[in-house]
Formats: sequence, C-alpha cells, structure tokens
Amino acid sequence: MKTARARLGIEVLVDCPNCDYLINLLDEKDTNGVNVNEDGLVMKQACPNGNWFELHEKFKVKNVTCSRCKKQLDVKGIDW
Ligand SMILES: [Zn+2]
Repeated sequence: MKTARARLGIEVLVDCPNCDYLINLLDEKDTNGVNVNEDGLVMKQACPNGNWFELHEKFKVKNVTCSRCKKQLDVKGIDW
C-alpha cells in the first residue's frame, strides 16, 4: 500500500466591511502587500495555547489595509 503525506491548508478570512472583498490575512496580496502575520501574530492568535473559545474572542489584528478598496480596518474576534 502506498502512503502519502498530509498537507495542512490555513486561511484566516475576513470580509472587508467597506467593499465585501474576501481578505485572507495570511496572503499579502489581500492586505495591500503588508505581511500582517509578522512574528506569527495572526497564527499565534488563531491557534493559541489554551481555550480557543475564550481566546478567540480576544483575536485582534489592527490596521489591516484591504487590497481592493485601500481602506483600513481592525479585525476583532475569530470564528471557526
Ligand atoms: Zn475593501
């Protein structure tokens, strides 16, 4: 029997409140060329050590710029 390696795909998605563009916070193409996951900021909050239900309420990424409309938004809270 053959074996294969699994591949984990991660997206952290936000609907832009200004233009409804679907922003993947882990894709610089969606965040106006800025790496908002610098130092693992997004991933540490998305996959925290501890109780995800409590910690996900504190999820926060500030000053994200939407690639489509160029407006800024703050992201607060994360659902999964
Ligand atoms: Zn937008």
